Amino acid sequence: MKRLLAVFAHPDDEGAIAGTLAHYSRNGVHVALACATRGESGEISDPELATPDNLGSVREQELRCAGQIIGVDELHFLGYCDSGMQGAADNERSTAFIQADPDDVRSKLVNLIRQIKPHIVITFEPHGWYGHPDHITAGRFTTEAFHLAYDAEVYPSVGDPWKPQRLYHALLDLNKFAIIFDYAREHGFDTGDFDALREETAKIELPPVSHRLDVDEYFEIREMATSCHRTQFGPDNLLHKVPEFVRRQAWRSEIFSQIYPEISNRPAERDDLFEGIDPLTLR
Ligand SMILES: [Zn+2]
Repeated sequence: MKRLLAVFAHPDDEGAIAGTLAHYSRNGVHVALACATRGESGEISDPELATPDNLGSVREQELRCAGQIIGVDELHFLGYCDSGMQGAADNERSTAFIQADPDDVRSKLVNLIRQIKPHIVITFEPHGWYGHPDHITAGRFTTEAFHLAYDAEVYPSVGDPWKPQRLYHALLDLNKFAIIFDYAREHGFDTGDFDALREETAKIELPPVSHRLDVDEYFEIREMATSCHRTQFGPDNLLHKVPEFVRRQAWRSEIFSQIYPEISNRPAERDDLFEGIDPLTLR
């Protein structure tokens, strides 16, 4: 059986590749998702839904709801706390993910990889999509753990070595957001946040796209899964205000960069993250 592990930082990050996860889940792949925090520092779209004190447990349930719809077979929380955006006071709290002991994070991730035995691992690229410190941290340690999991001398007490065969960084596709926000601007909605995001991300040089999955047929699943994250996407959210055909156009594909093994020449974009996996390992 093919197995996939995706590692992200907050409930709702998985939305960036919800179509891909839904696709593989419906094609017999065992899909595991790990989330470093419960998103305790997120905004609350409606005070009826959560308080700052219980937001973590509410968002855990929201991710369980989304995971079920997407087809996630196992969901793990690493148990750290949301560090908030760069410069936020939550950066400093001792339980914040970015303050965690690196050895503790690595051993948890190596343990997960050795238990789940994924053939492919997906995480954030080094800029964390838009510089979120938790995204950067999750991407960095997952990338390290990907290589450490096979070394029998590393964390010998947490399971037998396992070598995943492909490491992918999930890329934030600005074109998707441009479709939504350009429509929104033309129709008079306030798009302040996106202008800041566009400015922030314009400076980033992203790794090249190696894989693009057409996920249009999973659009409805993706919409249902997104609607689980009620504290994050309230009725005032721009995503709810633009018409469905605009969202459908925006979310029709998801993009990845293959990090391991490195691709030296630039072939055309591929569409299967499992291409080339050793069939002898599919047991
Ligand atoms: Zn996030």
